[in-house]
Amino acid sequence: MTAPDSHLAGSHLTIDLAALADNYRTVVQKAPTAECAAVIKADAYGTGLEPSAQTLWDAGARTFFVAHPQEGAKTRALLPEATIYVLNGLVGDDSSAEFDYYRMNALRPVLGCREEVTLWQDYCADRGESLPCAIHFDTGMNRLGLSLADAEELSTARQQAKPAFALELIISHLVCADEPAHPKNREQLEKFRAVRRLFPDVRASLANSGGVFLGPDYHFDLCRPGIALYGGAVVDGAPSPMRVVATLKTRILATRTVAKGQTVSYGASETTRRDSRLAIVCLGYADGYLRSASSSDAKKGAKVSINGHPAPIIGRVTMDLIIVDVTDIPADKARRGDWAEFFGSQIALDDVAKAAGTISYELLTSLGLRALRNYL
Ligand SMILES: *Cc1c(COP(=O)(O)O)cnc(C)c1O
Repeated sequence: MTAPDSHLAGSHLTIDLAALADNYRTVVQKAPTAECAAVIKADAYGTGLEPSAQTLWDAGARTFFVAHPQEGAKTRALLPEATIYVLNGLVGDDSSAEFDYYRMNALRPVLGCREEVTLWQDYCADRGESLPCAIHFDTGMNRLGLSLADAEELSTARQQAKPAFALELIISHLVCADEPAHPKNREQLEKFRAVRRLFPDVRASLANSGGVFLGPDYHFDLCRPGIALYGGAVVDGAPSPMRVVATLKTRILATRTVAKGQTVSYGASETTRRDSRLAIVCLGYADGYLRSASSSDAKKGAKVSINGHPAPIIGRVTMDLIIVDVTDIPADKARRGDWAEFFGSQIALDDVAKAAGTISYELLTSLGLRALRNYL
């Protein structure tokens, strides 16, 4: 038997697809000379791959980046004409099953090390098919990406003999794009320009969300925003210029009064400093809300908003429930059945992430285990 009513879901994650489309258009305006792709890895940052990819396509996006081939295949089923790059590239050894999967789903691997370039080269040579790919060059992350020396070698080899694959794109990734004044940005830009000079006929892509806002030098041919589309801040510590896309809320299950000097939740780590009124809400870390947003006497936690009033979490976040101190909210404005917003238009996603000692990316991609998703 299906649940009688969506009210029975503990937490509700509302995704505003119109805001997502608006955010895409905002990024397009910021980088008018480049193509603007959309990064939709990790279930489109927890917002739902299919609805978000479709919305971004309708808003004009034609190129998409995912992390895994399976995410790429899902996107392909939805968007037969999209260009789809897989950032993690080729995971396996020389098992041609993986390469066939790329070919059949028309996915383009982003090759991130020498071995992968060789594997793709051999596969294309064997098949006699010049299949498209991108190559990632490292300019300072020390994660994936070929070195500048590799770039020189590849470029020379490419002048001598055309590779078996079709090199459609070169990329690199910024490590401090959310800190506009960080010298690393310029340093990476200069290194990427040097790589680009070696592949003058190939399209180039450097900017993630933060990079788009660093200005036109960083835009090249293709931008790759992710978090900005989903409403996250692009500059560390500054309010997000984007529209709110994701709202997480749940209902108050019960309220109680607790005398001054009582401890609240597991570990007895927070004590009421006055006679208090507490609200117990239907959301916990099993829903993907972060336990590190807990509060204690030593360190305050995240806030929620109830009927427009901010209120702090008190004590530890538990698996399925959170306790909120609603003492400062009029009693008739925080009752059983009322909604508590955990982030959205009242409580900024980035503020919650900060209180939890993390970033908006982790908060968004942690959700979705249990929340009922509604799309606007
Ligand atoms: C995730 C990712 C992006 C998108 O980054 P945002 O900061 O979310 O805009 C772009 N490029 C690469 C290589 C990535 O891994």
